[in-house]
Amino acid sequence: MTQTEEKFLEYLKRKNHFEQMLGLVIWDARTGAPAGGVTQRAEIMETLSSELYEMTTSGDLKDLIDELKKEQEQSEILSRAIEEAEKAYNQNTKIPVDDYLAFVKLQTNAEVKWEEAKEKNDFEIFKPYLQEIVAFKKRFVQYLGYEQHPYNTLLDQYEPGVFTDTLDTVFATIKEHLIPLIQKVIHASDQPDTSFLFKSFPKEKQEELSKSFLNTMGYNFNKGRLDESVHPFAIGINPSDVRVTTKYNEQDFRVALLGTIHEGGHALYEQNISEELIPYGLASGTSMGIHESQSLFWEKFIGQSYPFWEAMYADLTTFAPAQFKHVSLQDFYFGLNEAKPSMIRIEADELTYCLHIILRYELEKGLFEGSIEVEDLPKLWNEKMEEYLGIVPSNDGEGVLQDVHWSSGDFGYFPSYALGFIYAAQINEVLKQEFPNFEELVRTKQLEPIRVWLTERIHQYGAVKKPKDLIESITGGGIDPTPLIQYLTEKYTKLYRL
Ligand code: ZN
Repeated sequence: MTQTEEKFLEYLKRKNHFEQMLGLVIWDARTGAPAGGVTQRAEIMETLSSELYEMTTSGDLKDLIDELKKEQEQSEILSRAIEEAEKAYNQNTKIPVDDYLAFVKLQTNAEVKWEEAKEKNDFEIFKPYLQEIVAFKKRFVQYLGYEQHPYNTLLDQYEPGVFTDTLDTVFATIKEHLIPLIQKVIHASDQPDTSFLFKSFPKEKQEELSKSFLNTMGYNFNKGRLDESVHPFAIGINPSDVRVTTKYNEQDFRVALLGTIHEGGHALYEQNISEELIPYGLASGTSMGIHESQSLFWEKFIGQSYPFWEAMYADLTTFAPAQFKHVSLQDFYFGLNEAKPSMIRIEADELTYCLHIILRYELEKGLFEGSIEVEDLPKLWNEKMEEYLGIVPSNDGEGVLQDVHWSSGDFGYFPSYALGFIYAAQINEVLKQEFPNFEELVRTKQLEPIRVWLTERIHQYGAVKKPKDLIESITGGGIDPTPLIQYLTEKYTKLYRL
């Protein structure tokens, strides 16, 4: 190892340790830290964040990067670490500090106004703040530069290498197939009885069940833990410490059950990243979309599948016998997979979910290419809801104001949710080819071979392989919505007897 490389690794280690500390403070804040400590905690987070900012933008780091780039014969891992450090350096130094600080201040105010506007169902309250946020973000895109479309620079922060031209094609195909399918489902004469879902299911039982599901998936409790929080999340401090939270609703057990499986999928990814990548700062998921593919694979393709409930339903009924007394496995499965258009994205089922995302993508892209103005958003939102899902929000609170993302300027984030589902379906298809007994494995709770396969093909690489390369290495091709469309069409045609 050269001296420069040693110094670079030293720098990465220090940065990584600050990130781990920040992660621990964030986890603590969301899982029951005393409310009285909020001011001190905010100051600590500010100190850690500004230290991190200084580290990523230091001139010494730039010198190291330039020096290392001259050296020949780097390992793939080292060259990716250099690439990432350079990307962070460029992003943080191209935006003038004054602009950045003004934006951070605006974010805080905008989030407060967004909350107020959402509560009062009044977009006008939020509008001037959103206009300012969009203006800032447009300026940031100019500073950072872009290829082909200004929105590509925003996408690059969450899903490197995926651009608007790909998304336009992929999303158009999804719309073409799913919009008519959803209409068929709405008008099907067979509709599920879902009343059993909303009976009282004791929290302690849900917790026990959540833990047993995590165990079945192969989640390692020696390197993790399960807690409760308002918004469920998984957080990887490092691969040996990956924590999951869930939320218990006694009137709807699905929230905890499917939520835990979802976060468990994120956690399996983080737990199984090769420890060798820690010194290089690459022991994390490679993109938002790939991360979401792991959570959605477990939640949808395992947790909402018939073979899984063939294995689990008997267990479930012992936890709340009265609730499921007269519900057959078939009726349970149908009820659990009920699909119908709804206003709120985070409550949407798997059949309609992508259309919520496509709507947001089209609006965001329009804002950044200048074909849409902020003031037109509520009207366009409602028009698209009607066109894609056949329903119209009765107010802005359940329409254009429902998500927090825009108030913090997180444009370009939404597409990764849909990409995650598309990737998950592609991965599921390959898995089923490689394991002809896939359903049998699930039906008999033998999920370990599946988990191991995911680790071999995806998890272990952390952020070394980029999303596009990773998908290519698994499927032999690019991003393709066909497996997802096929999965949804087959499943819902059968379920609703279309
Ligand atoms: Zn997720």
